[in-house]
Amino acid sequence: MDKNYLELIKKLETKKSLSTTEYEAIISYYQNANAKLQKEIRDYVSKKAVDAVKKVYGNAIFIRGLMEISNYCKNDCLYCGIRRSNKEVERYRLKKDDILSACEVGYDLGFRTFVLQGGEDPYYTDDILCDIIKSIKEKYKDVAITLSLGEKSKESFKKLRDAGADRYLLRHETADDNHYSLLHPESMLLSSRMESLNALKELGYQAGCGFMVGSPYQTATTIAKDLKFIEEFKPAMCGIGPFIPHHNTPFKNMPKGDTGLTCYLLSLIRLIIPNILLPATTALATLSGNGRIEGILSGANVIMPNLSPLSNRKNYEIYDNKAYQNDEAAESIELIKEQMKNIGYEIVIDRGDVKKI
Ligand code: SAH
Repeated sequence: MDKNYLELIKKLETKKSLSTTEYEAIISYYQNANAKLQKEIRDYVSKKAVDAVKKVYGNAIFIRGLMEISNYCKNDCLYCGIRRSNKEVERYRLKKDDILSACEVGYDLGFRTFVLQGGEDPYYTDDILCDIIKSIKEKYKDVAITLSLGEKSKESFKKLRDAGADRYLLRHETADDNHYSLLHPESMLLSSRMESLNALKELGYQAGCGFMVGSPYQTATTIAKDLKFIEEFKPAMCGIGPFIPHHNTPFKNMPKGDTGLTCYLLSLIRLIIPNILLPATTALATLSGNGRIEGILSGANVIMPNLSPLSNRKNYEIYDNKAYQNDEAAESIELIKEQMKNIGYEIVIDRGDVKKI
């Protein structure tokens, strides 16, 4: 490996900060390397990333029960399979009782965080959501609730927080204005996404951002901006996974993201924020059979198996062939525990909050 490259990684390890140009250099260096060198680079940084995460969390892996509460969406993101314009989707909404039943199943399986994710669906007013959140919290005193329901006003975020929501995932998608406009309809702006993210932080949520790896028009420069944004925003969580085309979207013919680059970026993010909660995502597992394990071995420490009612799982198809069976299913927790044990990790029954360092 190149001497300048190694110096930059060392600087990242010690300072936990690089300039945007330096981030770009370590991304380009990887992207321009041949397969053999790429593997060497990944092995080198993933070892450092795993050391870093183990210093904070030991060999614990946190699990989250992911409930996809609605695939109705008012937005029209060009990459997403449940975008408004996709008329082929069989739409569904979970009612409060469905959600509480899923929580019951999840709690018995050992889940202590429930993630309520969905399209931006106006059916779920603040009042409806607050009622659901309060009911979950009343029944289960030791669980955390994460929401992932898109952009909202600060007032709405505050109501949900007051009702008991602990965390909020809202991927920034890209920190580059122009790139953002190429991925979204004109009505959606990076500035309003950032406003939401800032509001979430101000309200005391553990806030999560993130982006797709290999989204159309992404470059080493835009990824460098993503890393700089992550460094400065200091999220409690960060979701990254490869872009996977969906057959009924404008990006249907775009190439899918690279799993090796995804793992490399997981390691870099771990080095930037050692205590960050970093999931090995379903998208990574969808593209690579071993994706979840590769993610963990790159520095991820969270997995989010699917806890939606079985009949709905196939309809939350944000990209083609999205995995929801076997080890992506919450019911397979024993299998997941075994997988993690085989690589020296342990699934813990815990809310899995971000640890202050
Ligand atoms: N409506 C919610 C949840 C969106 S789904 C919100 O806006 O936060 C969660 C994430 O899936 C998105 O943020 C996006 O980064 C990712 N995603 C959407 N379409 C995808 C695709 N085709 N390939 C990979 N990831 C995708």
